[in-house]
Amino acid sequence: MPLHLTNTLSRAKELFEPLDPGHVRMYVCGPTVYDFAHLGNARPVVVFDILYRLLKHLYPKVTYVRNITDVDDKIMDKARATGEPIADITARTTQAYHEDMAALRALPPDIEPRATTHIAQMQRMTGTLIERGHAYVAGDHVLFNVPSMPDYGKLSRRTRDELVAGARVDVAPYKKDPADFVLWKPSAPDQPGWDSPWGRGRPGWHIECSAMAAAHLGLTFDIHGGGLDLIFPHHENEIAQSRCAHGGAPLARYWVHNGFLTINADKMSKSLGNFFTVRDLLSRAPGEALRLALLSAHYHQPLDFSFDALQKARDTLDDWYGALRRAGDVKVDDGAPVPQAFMEALEDDLNTPRAIAEIHALAGALNKAADAPAQTAAKSSLLKAANLMGLLTQDPEEWFRWAPPGAPSLPDSEIESRIAARNAARKARNFAEADRIRDELQKAGVLLEDKADQTLWRRN
Ligand code: AMP
Ligand code: ZN
Repeated sequence: MPLHLTNTLSRAKELFEPLDPGHVRMYVCGPTVYDFAHLGNARPVVVFDILYRLLKHLYPKVTYVRNITDVDDKIMDKARATGEPIADITARTTQAYHEDMAALRALPPDIEPRATTHIAQMQRMTGTLIERGHAYVAGDHVLFNVPSMPDYGKLSRRTRDELVAGARVDVAPYKKDPADFVLWKPSAPDQPGWDSPWGRGRPGWHIECSAMAAAHLGLTFDIHGGGLDLIFPHHENEIAQSRCAHGGAPLARYWVHNGFLTINADKMSKSLGNFFTVRDLLSRAPGEALRLALLSAHYHQPLDFSFDALQKARDTLDDWYGALRRAGDVKVDDGAPVPQAFMEALEDDLNTPRAIAEIHALAGALNKAADAPAQTAAKSSLLKAANLMGLLTQDPEEWFRWAPPGAPSLPDSEIESRIAARNAARKARNFAEADRIRDELQKAGVLLEDKADQTLWRRN
């Protein structure tokens, strides 16, 4: 089955046909860097990482652009509240974001444009929109005039009344129409700002993405992604700006949106205070377990986070890594194909729950494989499938040795030497001493598993 994706424009699952099969281009809205990412912010990163990996598997070249919004009122508010310079906040938060997303096994995008290094492009696009009658200067603001675009609202399918209500701001007196939105706004002397034909100021959030997408992917590209909450107004406004500035050329052909990560059915968000940062969760569970938990529901569906669900993901990875550990010496055939049923699951609108079920079956097949050729075939299939999803990429021993960072834990070398002492005691038939060492290790959170020729261990 060739790749199908649900396109928010049509609300239907569509066959994915790239503009240029030799080069697929995707843009995903990135973070506003003022604080640590929470697990809800990580959901689009992991979902679009699966899409990116799949596209790279299917096409010779993929360019994935994900921006950094490093000029924004939330960043200014944080600087005012803490006294920390804006440049320090954005640099520190960007670095933390990179570390956290890498821990979730998300590949870095090919290009990560920062808003503050694309101000000239944003100003140019704003100027073009004014020239073409789609934007106007009102005092020291520049606004996009929504009624100037007859088919505005197609992505979100909002009626005119809903649009106005959705603008959700006190309608500023300088707006010609209540749905009009800001392209450029003035900055006070103590706020970040850039000189422009409309005075010293800064861009609105929506024009940032339109300008950065055009700069790196051209006028029309294949896929634009983000969370469901971005459909309106952000993506609707991106479409309006880009199409009106580019003579009607569509911005993206496929709009893909992930559902919310929830807690007890409420959207995880900073404002509700019901969030866990990725950083906090990484001190409680391995990043790979968080990744698997984030992929356990279809990307369209809401995904309710709980520590039980996280533990379930960990248990599943224990099973899979356990199969690999037992097959430690079995050779891998690098040329093995990715199993077809697994591919079909991913190509069917990124059906990750089905893909995970396939990986589970492949791990079961490895456990059951009877002879060396069957084991090689099973292990190769399991790794081909799981690795395509960014799973099972570490050594099984590393997985089983994971300890919460900073928590007291016996060092590996200490565990190994106690196991050696236990094995010596067993050899000398001093079973009481051997049991004492095993119990002592168990109390320290280390479990042993005796094999014919060695003792495997894991942290609990
Ligand atoms: P923000 O920093 O709020 O602009 O969010 C960054 C990205 O995370 C956007 O793509 C949002 O749609 C997405 N996002 C924020 N909260 C959630 C959530 N609870 N579940 C899924 N995606 C979310
Ligand atoms: Zn955006």
